[in-house]
Amino acid sequence: MNMKNLKLIQNKAELRALLKEIKGDVGLVPTMGALHRGHQSLIERANSENDFVVVSVFVNPTQFGPNEDYDKYPRTLESDLKLAESAGADVVFAPSPKEMYTDIYFEEKETTLVCPPYKYVNRLCGKTRAGHFDGVCTVVSKLFNLTNPKRAYFGQKDAQQLFIIKKMVQELDFDIEIVKCPIVRETDGLAISSRNTYLSENDRKSAVNISKALFKVKELKDKGIVESSTLIDTAIAYLKDFEVDYVEIVSKNDFCSVATVKNGDIILIAAKTPECKVRLIDNLEL
Ligand code: AMP
Repeated sequence: MNMKNLKLIQNKAELRALLKEIKGDVGLVPTMGALHRGHQSLIERANSENDFVVVSVFVNPTQFGPNEDYDKYPRTLESDLKLAESAGADVVFAPSPKEMYTDIYFEEKETTLVCPPYKYVNRLCGKTRAGHFDGVCTVVSKLFNLTNPKRAYFGQKDAQQLFIIKKMVQELDFDIEIVKCPIVRETDGLAISSRNTYLSENDRKSAVNISKALFKVKELKDKGIVESSTLIDTAIAYLKDFEVDYVEIVSKNDFCSVATVKNGDIILIAAKTPECKVRLIDNLEL
């Protein structure tokens, strides 16, 4: 195990001061904490490709809607520090919301935002989570400005987020390489997520149907079935007891729906579990 001497920083000025002294490439891994093996894989990758690794742990209020789980989102800083250190992080940056945002946000619930184009956010997760990607792009831009990384690491688990961040980097001229990391799964196929801790025992059993649906669709596509509507119906059949938010197949180039599937297109699912209504997302490249 590659144990470094991890430093916890909770203040922006201290982070900037420390990074000023660093020579070599900085790798940034933005997270909301409750770190698990998915995050671990990003940190390990960052450690293997950079001289210095910053992991941010920040439950970002601007990306949560009013009826979402901001207050109950798991906060586990002690164990996050252990995981980050053993995965090779040099710094965990874990600011409070008051440190991260200025007074105007707390007084008016408004701040300067980085807003991706409507075309990127009017579908999939953006459709039901109004303003979500504005919050994501804003906090990620702030983290980019604070850490000035050479590379930043994002999981394919949040495929639309990854697509939007890549566009943001191009469109705002950030000189940062965005590194896409594969989805880490439980042995039964469930994509690992901090929100899996909300699942009841029954929901945990049901949750595996999401990845089963994805893998079935891939199997059918590999056998030559390429009509999206047929493949989507197959996936939906696995999600009988779920509240399905969306099942869509999109091109990885523009994230627009496709009628006929080509290699590299992505099937995405968002659905709420039968019992506790935990909203899970997953996807697979076809
Ligand atoms: P989060 O803490 O959920 O905001 O996630 C932080 C980063 O970890 C994002 O880039 C996610 O896509 C990535 N991530 C979350 N879960 C996984 C997973 N199971 N496999 C790979 N990356 C993940």
